[in-house]
Amino acid sequence: MAGNWKMYKTPAETVTFFEKFLPLVANSEHCEVVICPPFTDLAAAASAAKGTRVRIGAQNIAWAKEGAFTGEVSGPMIAGTGAQYAIVGHSERRQYFGETDETVLKRTQAALEFGLTPIVCVGERLEERESGKTEALLVSQFQKGIAGLNEQQFARIVIAYEPVWAIGTGKTATPEIAADAHRVIRSQAREKFGRDAADSVRILYGGSVKADNAKTLMAQPEIDGTLVGGASLDPVSFASIVNF
Ligand code: PEP
Repeated sequence: MAGNWKMYKTPAETVTFFEKFLPLVANSEHCEVVICPPFTDLAAAASAAKGTRVRIGAQNIAWAKEGAFTGEVSGPMIAGTGAQYAIVGHSERRQYFGETDETVLKRTQAALEFGLTPIVCVGERLEERESGKTEALLVSQFQKGIAGLNEQQFARIVIAYEPVWAIGTGKTATPEIAADAHRVIRSQAREKFGRDAADSVRILYGGSVKADNAKTLMAQPEIDGTLVGGASLDPVSFASIVNF
């Protein structure tokens, strides 16, 4: 169960969050819990979560190790804070910052190279869903962004299906819609990487997940976890999602 804080919270607010959140998930041994704060909060988050089962992730990662890439943050820098995950290809990065399937693949490979677990996001926009192009879009994002990995690399990634029309809108995909999309992604994985790899890869659903819909989403065997934006900012609400 992963939380994406987007561009919210200062380091001081991060510390306050963890003080409230950690006791609420202290006994949650049924899943991995990952919080992805802004880069500037990574060190505070990793220090607050040290010695607990909660893991920390970045929201993006540079494809290079270092160099003249103003504004980017690299894998060794992220790992150096104590973070272990990195979200890659979030739709807000695709929409506002020119992220493409090609750069998503490069960033995914960089995360793996520097020992981080990438959470690779895919998902259709409203116009693609309404024009019946959801499956084609998911196949294309998989082919261009994930199929470029080798088998060893694929075994280490997490995929997040996040329909863009459901992100931050309060419109959650029904569990059936989400499960259908997960099946498309998993069948792509099966074709490219084989049955075992496809069965093992964790596919999270993201898009307006809240405490009151987490349970029905998680009841779908195809849905292995959730990637939560808005509702991960509040310790009580994210803890109740973790403890669905
Ligand atoms: C997200 O940011 O990845 C997300 C799913 O946002 P929200 O839960 O707010 O829709």
